[in-house]
Amino acid sequence: MMAVGSRIYNLEPLFKMIKYKHLFGPVMSRRLGISLGIDLVPYKYCPLNCVYCEVQRTTHQVTKREAFFDIREILDELDNFMVTNPHLDYITFSGAGEPTLNSSLGQIVNYIKAKYKGYKLALLTNGILFSDKEVRNEVLPCDIVLPSLDSATPEGFEKINRPCPELKVADLIEGLIQFRHEYKGIIWLEVFLVSGINTTTEEISALAKAINRIKPDLVQLNCLDRPGAEEWVKPISLHTLKQVKAQLSEKVCVPVEIIAKVKYQHAASQPDIELIELLENTLKRRPSTAEDLSAMLDIHINEISKVLSNLYQEKKITAQRESRGVFYKWTS
Ligand code: SF4
Repeated sequence: MMAVGSRIYNLEPLFKMIKYKHLFGPVMSRRLGISLGIDLVPYKYCPLNCVYCEVQRTTHQVTKREAFFDIREILDELDNFMVTNPHLDYITFSGAGEPTLNSSLGQIVNYIKAKYKGYKLALLTNGILFSDKEVRNEVLPCDIVLPSLDSATPEGFEKINRPCPELKVADLIEGLIQFRHEYKGIIWLEVFLVSGINTTTEEISALAKAINRIKPDLVQLNCLDRPGAEEWVKPISLHTLKQVKAQLSEKVCVPVEIIAKVKYQHAASQPDIELIELLENTLKRRPSTAEDLSAMLDIHINEISKVLSNLYQEKKITAQRESRGVFYKWTS
């Protein structure tokens, strides 16, 4: 059981998730509360190759949408999990890549909204494909969409997001503006801060202009939790986060918040303890990457990533970058 605010949740179903290929969690998401993840793309398909990406460098950098899987495979997993009517704050499209690359997304959205009417649906996206009207239409039934915009300048976009060559930040911004016009739900725009690149006055001014045109309901500032795709990307101090928040807040007409970290609730959740023990046993014997651990333990990489982030913050593991990725090692 897990206590969140005044509510008590039973996270027992989490233990079952180990067997799923497309579902992960439910995890305590910083932004969405108790969130059941659905991963719609194989590792790691994305049009971007962000320097801070916590699932590491993009291996399949594409903009072309594909079905990737038999849609029934995904829906069967969801139906199987939902049979117990679990308490969830959101069912969330996210994962180790960009969900809108899955060309069956619209069908899956419609299925969930029709069958699971009592549940709210969220989409985490980089928003790149929102320049495509078909993609925007497919996600209109979602209750909340959380796109990203880290920089509004071509230079910042190139440095931070390292997009496919044909992608332009102006098109990303226009796609988000268009989506805002068409979408009736909630938009929380995430800005991931990378020190020295999008924390300058010029970058913040450009971002503010874009935000005022996009008109999200909320802007959320994020920064690194654990090693990203590139070693030179470092966590940002609370002082800098607050400075950026103050600067942006002065210029934009929507609220800006720093995403608060949710303390890891491992003491309250038996399944998490099991997972930590599995990781401890493995990492004591052999330093491994998140991807290695995911394959070895047959647990979704996002599940592993959440736990690694917390263990890293608690200094129970160390991280060492090598040519094949970031290797984690148990410290004690
Ligand atoms: S952070 Fe998101 S958008 Fe950026 S490379 Fe990783 S998966 Fe893609």
